[in-house]
Amino acid sequence: MRIDIITLFPDYVEGFFSESILKRAREQKLVELVTHDLRDWAVDAYGAVDGHPYGGGAGMVLRCDVVVPAIEKVSKLNPDSSVILLTPQGQKYNQVVARELSKTKGMILVCGRYEGFDERIREYVDREISVGDYVLSGGELAAGVIIDSVVRLLPGALGDDFSSVEESFSTSTLEYPQYTRPEEYDGKKIPPILLSGHHAKIEAWRKEEATRRTKERRPDLS
Ligand code: SAM
Repeated sequence: MRIDIITLFPDYVEGFFSESILKRAREQKLVELVTHDLRDWAVDAYGAVDGHPYGGGAGMVLRCDVVVPAIEKVSKLNPDSSVILLTPQGQKYNQVVARELSKTKGMILVCGRYEGFDERIREYVDREISVGDYVLSGGELAAGVIIDSVVRLLPGALGDDFSSVEESFSTSTLEYPQYTRPEEYDGKKIPPILLSGHHAKIEAWRKEEATRRTKERRPDLS
């Protein structure tokens, strides 16, 4: 898979790729991650990429004659990738969307800043995604959320591929409770079934716990 990120802060985004699973996935060539500095498409020698909003109002808006040429250039290099605009007004991101994206050949993530994008930019993208009902200062963290959740679903990205099969949202339930050493902490013991060595019973217990937990915490999922 190839993921391109168009951003005003390429170094910030590169930081996500230099640790842990993303770093390993990149080294193993499971994913190619490429950042593009939006300033390369600035309209003047001062690096201008934004303008005051027509009609007045606070803040600055990213210009379409900057963002659209950037999208077009990066798309030309990657015709199989879909262009995704990161915006709080987009489709709400979740594990179903992550799984869908993980099966594609690539994506181009367009990160906004300031007050966001000139409206006309929307006509040049394939879809718009929001990582949640809150407003971030820029699309970079949203890109990080999408990249991390998609890359860990790529076959071979996790040490044990079952990790992503069993975790929360992989079915329509949250994950069952997990325990590790010590067996007892501050008077709190782990459920005895987990020490029984009886795999079928452990599996049944986990299923039950996952269902109970989902009903309790996220009834909207069940
Ligand atoms: N004025 C815009 C609005 O109300 O829709 C918000 C602009 S926000 C301060 C700057 C940029 O951060 C956005 O253009 C977008 O790229 C990114 N961003 C902020 N919140 C986001 C979210 N929940 N999901 C995805 N991107 C987000």
